[in-house]
Amino acid sequence: QPCFFTGIQASGTLTLGNYLGVICHILEIQDEYEIIIMICDLHALTIPKPNFNYREIGHEIAALLYACGLKEEKCKIFIQSEIKEHVELAYLLSPHITVSVLSNMIQYKEKKREQESGNLALLTYPVLMAADIFLYDADLVIVGQDQTQHLELATNIAQKFNNFYNKNLLKIPKFTIPHLGAKIMGLKNPQKKMSKSENDFLALLDDSQTITKKIKEAETDSENKIYYDPAKKPGISNFLTIYALLSKQEIKEAEKELQNLNYHQFKLKLIDLLNEKLGKIQKKYIDYQPRIKEILKKNTEYLKILATQKLNLIKKEIKFN
Ligand code: ATP
Ligand code: MG
Repeated sequence: QPCFFTGIQASGTLTLGNYLGVICHILEIQDEYEIIIMICDLHALTIPKPNFNYREIGHEIAALLYACGLKEEKCKIFIQSEIKEHVELAYLLSPHITVSVLSNMIQYKEKKREQESGNLALLTYPVLMAADIFLYDADLVIVGQDQTQHLELATNIAQKFNNFYNKNLLKIPKFTIPHLGAKIMGLKNPQKKMSKSENDFLALLDDSQTITKKIKEAETDSENKIYYDPAKKPGISNFLTIYALLSKQEIKEAEKELQNLNYHQFKLKLIDLLNEKLGKIQKKYIDYQPRIKEILKKNTEYLKILATQKLNLIKKEIKFN
């Protein structure tokens, strides 16, 4: 079976954006692929937080992913830092990329500005990301829209590396980026993407009181008419997207269903739907929580073998073994 690979940062609790943007998509393809999902704690460390429990959040994310419906036997979830081969491969790739290319990456420049200075991990992040991708000979990789430049870079590194050793050592997968319809925006600020590292999200683990409060307080507009127009009505359009995706219909259909409601009624309907869907996930989460360490351990053992084999193959070419 072909292999699907993706990553989720260990930077915070999973959000509705993560669920609708990527998890639902993986649920649809899990019968066609072997699924590998990496919880990226090394990547999260590029913006280090002193009192943040990376392991705890990693375990929570993993248990939640299974609770969303990913199958234990099909879907290998693991924590990045548990497989040291990622870092080792990143180092072996790093002579094939220049510092100036890395320091010109859009995301590096943006994050550097936010933090008022860059750091070495932030600078070399795309090299580690390339290593993540190539270590498992993935066929299909999904990443967020903000990662397109890093994918080009990964492809570039692979081509240079393969040319240098005159051998097809690194397999360039097919890259997909979730389409725009599945980009969930913030609740208070619907102009901005919902992110787990910014405090404007609906968490998959939010209880029904919190859901109600967050939806009721979410930003809308004063027109009180429900239709899809992200530029003019970002809040309502975001709600329409969420409602349509959760109820598995097209935005057009949802629009039609909801057109006679006012915002208050729409919000109540959305709250009900969210409670139903998230409630189910939360119930299954309780089942997975006590077993998650054990599941991750098994996954890691399995993936470690693949990673070691791949790395040994590469080291042989370099004459390191
Ligand atoms: P962070 O703020 O740490 O970057 P994040 O919420 O953006 O967290 P990531 O770990 O960067 O999450 O991304 C995990 C996956 O979730 C990616 O595939 C990304 O495309 C998807 N994703 C993240 N946020 C959204 C969103 N608001 N709408 C749709 N998909 C999203
Ligand atoms: Mg992100």
